Amino acid sequence: MSATPLRYNNYSQNLTKQFGVRLQKLSIDAGFSCPNRDGTIGTGGCTFCNNDAFNPSYCTPQKSVTQQIQEGKSFHQFRYKRASKYLAYFQAYSNTYAPIEKLKSLYEEALSDIDVVGLVIGTRCDCLDEEKLNYLAELSKSYYIVLEIGVESCYNDTLKLINRGHTFEDAEFWIKKAADLGIKVGVHLIFGMPDDTREKMLAQVQKINQLPIYSIKFHQLQIIKGTKMEQQFLENDPNFKPLFFELDDYLDFVVDFIEQLRPDIIIERIAGEVPPRFQVGPVWGGIRNDQIMVQFEKRLAERETFQGRTFFKKA
Ligand code: SF4
Repeated sequence: MSATPLRYNNYSQNLTKQFGVRLQKLSIDAGFSCPNRDGTIGTGGCTFCNNDAFNPSYCTPQKSVTQQIQEGKSFHQFRYKRASKYLAYFQAYSNTYAPIEKLKSLYEEALSDIDVVGLVIGTRCDCLDEEKLNYLAELSKSYYIVLEIGVESCYNDTLKLINRGHTFEDAEFWIKKAADLGIKVGVHLIFGMPDDTREKMLAQVQKINQLPIYSIKFHQLQIIKGTKMEQQFLENDPNFKPLFFELDDYLDFVVDFIEQLRPDIIIERIAGEVPPRFQVGPVWGGIRNDQIMVQFEKRLAERETFQGRTFFKKA
């Protein structure tokens, strides 16, 4: 942890402050599906999505939640050695897409591990209902629970273009419902979508600031092997013009964005990372996420700015 105060609301620092120890997320693939793949909402899924690219190798639904937690702990203890408490990260596909009894059994299996102090649950807004939210609100009274909802873009045209299968307003509705019940909500946003421009992307910060969210993850658009986007990219589809950033420009863009971002929103990450074997582009020289964060902090310092700098001016 850096001794100098950071210029943005940093996720790990917040967790360490809250729990007094370093926390590590353990990814879990509990065998969920996705309504945007199985025909309930759509087929084929979001055009950027290949879940295999995001899942660590020790995660597979053939293993129980308990086994994945044990293997995840061994993996991280060997690599990092510093974590002593964990968050179970239900990551693959849509992790509220099942009847409530099944969700309870999976989540509570994870929480029964003495070292697991909370859950992060990745999902789509259309896989939520009142009963599930009430249950998560109850769980939030005893554990650290974050409901991670994919927003991806605040523009419905863009969401249509990437076959997202829901609107921004749908996401907004369920984010507000969850937050009203006291659930911490995290969101994802992808920069560089096929119809994005710098101005369009930046304007989204006003909508994000209006959402009652706890945390945010930013991702640069990555073309991943095995996706519809890869096909469009390789076929030079005229309707497909992703806004690829060089890393340097991307850092400047994210700095511009977070200068306007509400300061209480915790920034969990500013870029996505997939294993090289899945990458089609842009690759950024294989730079790892932790190095990107270091460069991001350096850029904030060089520009003598910080999260929310212009938010205060506008407020
Ligand atoms: S990104 Fe999420 S919602 Fe979209 S297809 Fe993949 S699993 Fe489904």
